[in-house]
Amino acid sequence: MTSTPNSLSLPGWTTSSRDMTGAIGGTPLIRLTRASEATGCEIFGKAEFMNPGGSVKDRAALAIIEDAEKRGQLKPGGTIVEGTAGNTGIGLTLVANARGYKCIIIMPETQSQEKIDFLRMIGADLRLVPAKPYRDQGNYVHVSRRIAEENGFLWANQFDNVANREGHRHTTAPEIWEQLDGRVDAFTCACGTGGTLAGTALGLEDCSRQAGTERPDIVLADPEGSGLYGWVKSNDLSVSGSSITEGIGQSRITANLEGAPIDDAERIPDAEALEQIYSLLIHEGLSVGGSSGINVAAAIRVARRLGAGHRIVTILCDGGARYQSKLFNPEFLRSKDLPVPSWLDK
Ligand code: PMP
Repeated sequence: MTSTPNSLSLPGWTTSSRDMTGAIGGTPLIRLTRASEATGCEIFGKAEFMNPGGSVKDRAALAIIEDAEKRGQLKPGGTIVEGTAGNTGIGLTLVANARGYKCIIIMPETQSQEKIDFLRMIGADLRLVPAKPYRDQGNYVHVSRRIAEENGFLWANQFDNVANREGHRHTTAPEIWEQLDGRVDAFTCACGTGGTLAGTALGLEDCSRQAGTERPDIVLADPEGSGLYGWVKSNDLSVSGSSITEGIGQSRITANLEGAPIDDAERIPDAEALEQIYSLLIHEGLSVGGSSGINVAAAIRVARRLGAGHRIVTILCDGGARYQSKLFNPEFLRSKDLPVPSWLDK
């Protein structure tokens, strides 16, 4: 008779001792078969779409809320305000529901209908604002800050609150390290706030230092329309082009990004990212969103540069269903002059 494995010891299957927040993190690391075979490397995606709120941002939401609790900035019944592309708002609202807080979420109206509907469904006080650049006081980040200041609410401030990256430093990075027995050659990641990229990079650096090994290469994956590729390559933050991906791209150095060890950058056009998300879906059964496509495309480029035999890790930030009306909608794709995958083109 074969013995039954103890499910409590499997990664991602631990018992949550406090509340739903125990289910955040501990995500599987999935070997991406096609990307690995095409490059002769091993390319892994951290399945962040498996978090309770469906994205990598659950980790930042929990880290920010727990930091505020520790500092005494958040009391029972308190209100959290945040400007978000959607995923952080989802994470914050779910954790707030579990811990007895209220959430006001300010979001640009250009984000996907699925994220808007989901935020309303889970009880967020959602306020949509016109999409404006950061320098404009009507930008969603500034609107959220003002609401918090005027009412004495907690402003989560995910862009410049380094509790965000510290969350990744102490969870995402050691998880990856443990899952690969410390054998990681490179990490690629896109950047919205920079929390995932910088926190994971710093955490992998901590792990390498402790192990007495060299730190993995850290490579920014950047969409068109973001200033960070130019910043990494030539210290020039100017922006050109645009992207249909949501939640990533940045035109300033946030506090989360400051001082992060970043070795190189790849700029990924939307068509290249979409090719990856369609391939992951149809050939590997992985339904992911646009930023995951940017991440995987960058991982493939890095693998080709490093040569066969290397191990590259990236982040599968959220699930494809969140973008059904856009990235998987032939009409939307045609309106952006992007190719429509064959099985959707009916
Ligand atoms: N991908 C998606 C889908 C996101 O919503 C975000 C955050 N807005 C990111 C990637 C970027 O993560 P971070 O804020 O940690 O840079």
